Parts: sequence; structure tokens; C-alpha cells
Amino acid sequence: MKQIALLGATGSIGIQTLEVLRLHKEEFSLYAMAFGKNIGKALPLIKEFQPSLVVVQDEGTKLELEKQWQGCPVLFGNDGLVEASVADAVDVVVNAVMGSIGLQATLQAIEARKTIAIANKETLVTAGHLVMEAARKNNVALLPVDSEHSAIYQSLNGEQQRDIHKLIITASGGSFRDKKREELVGVTVEDALNHPNWSMGAKITIDSASMMNKGLEVIEAHWLFDVPYEQIHVILHRESVIHSMVEYVDRSVMAQLGTPDMKVPIQYALTYPQRYPLEHTKQLNLEEIATLHFEKMDMERFPCLKMAFEAGREGGSMTTVLNAANEEAVQLFLEGRISFLDIEQLIQQQLTQHETIHKPDLSTILSIDEETRKRVRLQLK
Ligand code: NDP
Ligand code: MG
Repeated sequence: MKQIALLGATGSIGIQTLEVLRLHKEEFSLYAMAFGKNIGKALPLIKEFQPSLVVVQDEGTKLELEKQWQGCPVLFGNDGLVEASVADAVDVVVNAVMGSIGLQATLQAIEARKTIAIANKETLVTAGHLVMEAARKNNVALLPVDSEHSAIYQSLNGEQQRDIHKLIITASGGSFRDKKREELVGVTVEDALNHPNWSMGAKITIDSASMMNKGLEVIEAHWLFDVPYEQIHVILHRESVIHSMVEYVDRSVMAQLGTPDMKVPIQYALTYPQRYPLEHTKQLNLEEIATLHFEKMDMERFPCLKMAFEAGREGGSMTTVLNAANEEAVQLFLEGRISFLDIEQLIQQQLTQHETIHKPDLSTILSIDEETRKRVRLQLK
């Protein structure tokens, strides 16, 4: 039986991971679960899955939870996330927290030689070189949960790295794909949260609307598959049926298709290299879909994608700044304090001001992350 540590259990990916665990109770057991502050959502899950360890965001939440649950130890903060990830009993860490707070737990879990199922793309964007270096050194598998990266991983199965010509990442286009740039002035949080194909957490849904999500995924793909940015291509594909593709040197293109359901890549990461049935997921009905569409990405229309490519090519600490500025700007937008178009402005400002540090170590990354967030907030005053 595989023992799982699930970071971000109450989130969109977390809840769907638990659905997969429910389908295969004889194969998986939830050893540890972490969430932020949402006790209301977490408590029924804790009672159902009876983990041996629970981690919450802060001490206040821990004290509150302990009034309602005494079944296992409750830890908090970053140390708690690390402890859950390196516990002896754990085989697989599913990192599904939102944002770069997942970084240290991921690095420590790699050092402890745990298999990592990684949904948390911000970790790879902010410190991809550290994560990949640690994974190589410790011979640890990083199994992608993000649907595009799972599709690439599946399309790469058994192929040689040197035979890859390019990765083709598909983008649904997010909530504003049919709006012109001038129509984005004054769009609301509610408009942005209304994604056409996928139901996800708030931050990633905003990232999809700004196309930053695709930018973060380009950087994520660069690190996961060790492919240079020149060989990563993004294409608009409205139906989200092809989840991504790999073109080989002989012009052959491998793709992975399916209905948009995150349980598929989540389960694949948990059962790899096997496949298990996924009963309630809709089958792909190509006759019903009939037509698939592809369009060239317009980099001027989606400046966040352009910025991500530029930051990725620059490398070093530039992607740490990109990620931190984006996380902070999206939070400000969700709080109703800035407009949608301010998000890209704030990120661009931070990128322009930053002097790249090459191969930053962990403490440099953490301090650049913190500084960038502060500077974004200062712009508002
Ligand atoms: P959500 O916002 O839905 O969930 C985030 C989770 O992280 C919640 O469980 C939240 O707890 C928890 N959390 C937040 N802060 C802390 C903290 N300080 N300590 C411990 N736990 C914390 O996000 P998603 O599930 O949408 O996304 C998670 C990650 O997966 C992101 O990196 C995203 O980019 C990636 N991803 C998501 C996809 C999706 O379909 N949703 C698809 C592909 C990738 P609480 O509920 O208490 O706030
Ligand atoms: Mg994705």
C-alpha cells in the first residue's frame, strides 16, 4: 500500500486527489494532509481519511482545529509541511498547495527520496534549477500532475531526449480568450473566475485569464523535461481535448487526448507506470466533438506569456521575480484592489527593475521572493 502525504488537501487538486484515493482504497492510504485555514472543509475529510498527521497554516488554526479533533498530532507552518513530507512512512508527496510556499517541503522531500507528484508549478518556476538538481542527485521521480505536463510525460514514454524536436503546449485561452485587449479594461473578478473548460482554484483561474498560467507552464516544462525555450511552443486550442504534444525529429507528433478532468493526470502520477480504471470520468467522444481548432498565440494580446518566455530565457532569479510579482498581483486583484490589466503592469515593473542573479541558492530565492512581494505592495501606496 502506498502512503500519501497530500499538501493542499482542501484545494481543487487536493479534493480531486482524495476522490482518486477513495476509488483505490486498497492501494493508497492518506498518511498526512496539509491545508491552510479552512477547517470547515478539512474536518470532514480528516474524519473520513483518519490521517496520522495534519498540518495547517498557522498556530491559531492549529489551536482551533484541536478543539474539534484530537485523533492525531496537528503541526503548523513551513516546518509542519516539511515534517509531513519527509515522514518515514510516506512514499509519495502530492504537492498541491497554491504558490511558492511548496518549495522547501518539496526540496526536503526530494532529499528524503520521496516520489513527488507535483501540481504546484510555482515551485518549479521560482527554483526549478534547485528542484531538478536535487531530484537528479537523489534519483527521485518528479511526476507531473499539471494536465499539459502529464500529456507530455505520457507522449515521451520510452523516447530518447535527443529525439525531441519540440514540445507543443496547448492553451484553452481562459475566460477572456474572445476579448480584445481594449475590452479587458474594467473586467471584474467574477468575469475572470469564469473559466470555459476547467474548474480550478481562484489563483490559477486568474492566471489562465491573463495567460500567465501558460507562461508558468512553459517554465515548468523547461525544467521538467530539460528542453530549451526555443523548442517550447504554445498553441491556442479551445476545446482542451489535446492536453499537449511532443514533436520528434522525424516530424512524428505524439499527443495525449481526453475529456478535461484533472483526476486523470492526478491518478496517472499516483499509479505510474501502471494505469488504473477511472470509472466516473467521461469518455472522450470524438464523434460528438467532431472538430478541433488550433490558433497561433498572439504574444501582443497576451503579454504575460511573452514576459514568462523572456524571464525564462533570462533564467536565474528572473523567474523567481516573475512568480512572486504574479502571486502578489493576482492576490491584489482578487482583493479588489487593482484592475485586471494592473496585474501585467506590476509584474513588468518588477522584471524591469531586477538585476538577474545566476544560479541563486535557496536563501537568495527566498529573500528575492519576499522583497518582490513587498515592492509590489509598495506600488499601491
Ligand atoms: P486551491 O487554491 O484550490 O488550493 C490550494 C490549497 O493549498 C488549499 O488546500 C489551501 O488550503 C492550501 N494552502 C494554502 N496556503 C497554505 C499554507 N500556507 N499551508 C498549507 N496549505 C496551504 O489551488 P488549486 O488546487 O487550484 O492549485 C494548487 C496548485 O496546483 C497550484 O500550484 C496550481 O497552479 C496547480 N494546478 C492546479 C490545477 C487545477 O485544476 N486546480 C491544474 C494544474 C495545476 P485552504 O483551503 O485552507 O486555503
Ligand atoms: Mg495546466
